[in-house]
Amino acid sequence: MIPYLDLTILHAGIRSELDAAWNTVLDSAWFIQGEQLAAFEKEWANYCGVNSSAGCANGLDALRLVLEAWKIQGKLKPGDEVLVPSNTYIATWLAVTQAGLIPIPVEPNPDTLTVEAVGLEEKISPRTRVILPVHLYGRIAPMPEIMNLAESAQLLVLGDAAQAHGASWQGKKTGAWGHAEAFSFYPGKNLGALGDAGAVCSSDEDLIRLIKTLGNYGSEKKYHNLYLGFNSRLDELQAAILRVKLRELDEWNRERLNLADRYLMGIQNEFLRLPADAPAGQHVWHIFQVQTLHRAELQLYLQSAGVGYMIHYPIPPHQQPAYAKEFPGQTFPISESIHAHTLSIPLFPGLEIEKQDIIIQVLNQFTPKL
Ligand SMILES: *Cc1c(COP(=O)(O)O)cnc(C)c1O
Repeated sequence: MIPYLDLTILHAGIRSELDAAWNTVLDSAWFIQGEQLAAFEKEWANYCGVNSSAGCANGLDALRLVLEAWKIQGKLKPGDEVLVPSNTYIATWLAVTQAGLIPIPVEPNPDTLTVEAVGLEEKISPRTRVILPVHLYGRIAPMPEIMNLAESAQLLVLGDAAQAHGASWQGKKTGAWGHAEAFSFYPGKNLGALGDAGAVCSSDEDLIRLIKTLGNYGSEKKYHNLYLGFNSRLDELQAAILRVKLRELDEWNRERLNLADRYLMGIQNEFLRLPADAPAGQHVWHIFQVQTLHRAELQLYLQSAGVGYMIHYPIPPHQQPAYAKEFPGQTFPISESIHAHTLSIPLFPGLEIEKQDIIIQVLNQFTPKL
């Protein structure tokens, strides 16, 4: 059996550094808001090419805290509209809804699967305040045109970079494009903690300070509360682990790119639609997905061939029971088609070439009977 994802190989290579990081925190006996977090926030901001970053508890909170901070700054008010992709993980939408704002779905480009300026522009209304592009599956959205549109329409841009650590456009990385960008360090992401963690990046240092305050009960000074805050902090153990793993991120992303190139060259099957290629750097291949009209059959076939797979994602947000009431009768055909046909195959640092060749061979021999 070839698993969809195996983190043991990746951790084995840095096991002694992870152990040392863990022990440093244990020995310090300081677990929340200490040196490790401060150092990681600096290193992460530096990596992304921004002035500052704020750690928080997870990717959903990272998105939400930006929106809450913009409300406090008077840039947003409840009921304002946020343009979101119609195809994304539900967290993108939940952050908007939980902040009292209205998600307005925008269909993606069917080749790149990210939103772009043309689709976004059509959905701008007098109540639109924010564009929330997602760098889906590791591919950075076309940020130069999105930032131009935002400037001419006077909108804020919040990037969802939960799947795209290190992806760049014209050399400028995710985290540095939007007015703020949010990251998740969920274990399976390109940069993952050993539990939940997240961060916001921005060159607006006031915003980052406000987000740190909001994530710490709205208090800058202990037991003095300026805002109705949250408890959303990145703890010292996770920060120490992330500092070790950050040193490997570029190498891991190179390995992902190499594996993706081998899939793009090697998979040749008229029943499988491969993802569009992208210049090096613009895609960090968090997920390699193929699309097929015969997905149920492909799933059974992969199960019997012993190849792991996942579906990202089976149901689009507007059709989830949680949201169905708010989008009655609305259809987003591009998103619905992606969700109905997509299937993700194994791609992770440490996946051996021999195993990848088996996966390629298995996929090339897939012939649907129905
Ligand atoms: C993982 C993910 C999130 C949420 O991150 P968590 O850390 O799980 O809260 C948000 N958006 C996208 C696109 C994601 O893939």
